[in-house]
Amino acid sequence: MSLSLICPSCKGAEVDILASGLWDGEDKDGRPISGSCEYGICKQCHGRVARYDGPPYFPANEEWQSKIGPIEQRQRQMAAWPYESEDPNKEA
Ligand SMILES: [Zn+2]
Repeated sequence: MSLSLICPSCKGAEVDILASGLWDGEDKDGRPISGSCEYGICKQCHGRVARYDGPPYFPANEEWQSKIGPIEQRQRQMAAWPYESEDPNKEA
C-alpha cells in the first residue's frame, strides 16, 4: 500500500483512491494466485486509473462500472441514510 498510484494519462501521482482490495484467481497452471488492486481518479486530469499489482492502466468503462458502480451507489445510499447502522435483530 506504500506505492502511490500513477495516472497512466498524465503521469500525475495525485490519485484519489476510490476502492482498493484484494483479488484472487488462478494462474495458467490452475494454482491459486492473489494480489491487491486499486481504483481511483486522477486529481490532475480526472481520468480513471486502475492497477492490479502491475503498471497502472486506464480501465474500460465496463470494468469501471462493475467495480466502482456498486461502491458509488452504496456511498450515495449511506449519504441518504446516515443512521442506518442499528441492527434490527438486536435485543432492546
Ligand atoms: Zn492524470
